[in-house]
Amino acid sequence: MTSSTPDDPLDTLVQFVRGVGPRKAELLGKLDIHSVRDLLWHLPRDVLDLTDVRKPDELVEKREQTVRGEVVDVDARQVSGGRTMTAALLDCGGDYVRGVWFNQPWMRKRLMMGTRVLFTGKPKRHQGRWEFGHPQVQWLEDDDSGEGVGLLPRYGLTEGLRMHEMRRMTQNAAEDCAENITDALPESYRETMKLPVLGAAVKSLHLPATMAEYDAARHRILFDDLFEFQLALALRRRAWKREDDAPVMATTAKIDARIRRLFPFRFTEGQDTAIRDVVADLQSGAAMHRLLQADVGAGKTVVAVYAMLVAVACGYQAVLMAPTELLALQHAETIETILEDSRVARMLLTGSLTTAQRRDTLAAIESGDAELIIGTQAVIQKDVKFAKLGVAVIDEQHKFGVVQRARISAGDDNPHVLVMTATPIPRSLCLTQFGDLDLSLMTDLPPGRQRVVTSRITGDAPRQKAWDFVKKQLASGRQAYIVCPLVKGETASNDGPRGADVIYERVVKALPNFDVGLVHGQMDRKERAGVMERFRDGDLHVLVSTTVIEVGVDVPNATLMIVLDAERFGLSQLHQLRGRISRGSYQGYCFLFSESAAPEAAQRLHALESTADGFRIAEVDFELRGPGDVLGTRQHGEMPLRVASLTRDVKILDAARREAFALVGSGDLDTPEFAALKRQVLTRFGRLMDLPQSG
Ligand code: ADP
Ligand code: MG
Repeated sequence: MTSSTPDDPLDTLVQFVRGVGPRKAELLGKLDIHSVRDLLWHLPRDVLDLTDVRKPDELVEKREQTVRGEVVDVDARQVSGGRTMTAALLDCGGDYVRGVWFNQPWMRKRLMMGTRVLFTGKPKRHQGRWEFGHPQVQWLEDDDSGEGVGLLPRYGLTEGLRMHEMRRMTQNAAEDCAENITDALPESYRETMKLPVLGAAVKSLHLPATMAEYDAARHRILFDDLFEFQLALALRRRAWKREDDAPVMATTAKIDARIRRLFPFRFTEGQDTAIRDVVADLQSGAAMHRLLQADVGAGKTVVAVYAMLVAVACGYQAVLMAPTELLALQHAETIETILEDSRVARMLLTGSLTTAQRRDTLAAIESGDAELIIGTQAVIQKDVKFAKLGVAVIDEQHKFGVVQRARISAGDDNPHVLVMTATPIPRSLCLTQFGDLDLSLMTDLPPGRQRVVTSRITGDAPRQKAWDFVKKQLASGRQAYIVCPLVKGETASNDGPRGADVIYERVVKALPNFDVGLVHGQMDRKERAGVMERFRDGDLHVLVSTTVIEVGVDVPNATLMIVLDAERFGLSQLHQLRGRISRGSYQGYCFLFSESAAPEAAQRLHALESTADGFRIAEVDFELRGPGDVLGTRQHGEMPLRVASLTRDVKILDAARREAFALVGSGDLDTPEFAALKRQVLTRFGRLMDLPQSG
């Protein structure tokens, strides 16, 4: 087989495509395009619709139309109700139209003077001129004007390659070779799903005849992407469910009553529902893989403790794993209070045990003397051997995605696993990151919880007022957090980001009558825990910190929080932070200091002022900043998706998930008809997601 005449025409080197040649092939190489296949899969990022571009004097009212022109004026300003209005004036060959947007301040930056664009929308007459309200905007490039009318796909380029050249190359490849693309979806299935043939879809993306054809083709590509990933999740789930060697634990009425009696309150409806889910899992014979999602303070611990006590009552061990030592300690104390009069043998296993303590604890775990173990990651290290592990609860592990989340394997045990997230996750993200887990959602809060009063503070005078308020509250016995975006540093300008170290010095001077502490992530673990403990015990009145307090400690008397440079934080993160001051019976106050002039920052922080619903906030955050910020770290938020977007393609995601789980559930995926599809899924995700290669 030589490179110019391979078995599969798609493997042909790209230089042999009509209109390419060695020089352009070299440029394409910079885009990682080496074969005909690569070129075909270099899909357009969008398409320019020039089929019906009108001059302003050809426009009619209330029908969707497109105009082409150059931005000659643009401004953004505040209008009534705290909204921003952005307006752009377009010169369409000597005649002018206007586009206006409300609450999309970022449009201003994208519509620079001199930019050439298309507006599509339904215009109306306003003050003697055509005006488009919230038109769809397409940005024109240098190359876009030369060509005539029609649909023009647009591609990612590299230096030296022009748009029309790229277009010609992809179109030639599509005309000559797109039909050779094999389609893993069986014909009958494709027809039921009303999906175009894959090869035809790729061709339509490069050579669309109508916008509808382009959209259908794009839908097919996005669907495949999401569908294959959901199939992988469904296969992983099935593999788990099929292993029916998990301990069977029946919760009797007596066990249930005995557990409930330990708590000084009635469970909320959300807790009861989640407990019902868990109880059903525990007696099913297949290992539980369940995600418990709820807002901060909803009372997830109750569900965790319930599951663990069922295990203990049935003669198994249970383990609770927290992300930090401090949280593990706090859980241990909570559980200590609950189990005060009980004989359940509990133990704490963290990294700071002495060698002798650790040895004894490990021995007790191995012999089965320890029934309920609370700890950090230390509990899943290799030398920890459980006698009879039945239930494992992982708290606050929202930062670990579907790929990273390792299975808790404890020798030959196949324990039931309950994962709890600290922060609400937008649905679409949840279906992908945690799409292999069963979901229990608690949307209510325990009764009597007070909503934290939250205000965005801008300007010297309001800032001073906020400080005065905090001082007064401190004098009456409350405690305060001051949260900084950085550990260290001060910039020359006054409004730059400031580090916790600098703020700490200033606060110490400004509040001579109060005791101030400092914690941040670069401190030694022990030292940090020491400071946190002093704050919890009331020895410190003010705690200057970074986000280390985010997942955190319960200090009911701490009701005040000032967040500096608040616009630098993710919304979900701020919501988490403010959850720290809604724990007691006193009213909580959160001041979001922000000097940022960007209207976008104001808009984001306004979402926090106006709602206490963590799920809503997570959705807003997700839309504005993408998955990485919602999950708290960028690299963990990355999805193994090729083209689909979780914010944009939610509807397709829903369909893809439904179809994938149905196909695996019915067993159809295992029939010869779907063999090609299954092979494709295993090739793409098998290793990544630890899928069984057969069955
Ligand atoms: P989170 O879901 O954030 O982990 P926790 O489990 O820490 O929440 O619970 C938050 C607080 O609410 C705790 O102080 C807990 O004792 C209390 N709580 C939990 N459930 C209830 C309930 N059903 N009624 C009253 N208080 C409750
Ligand atoms: Mg918790």
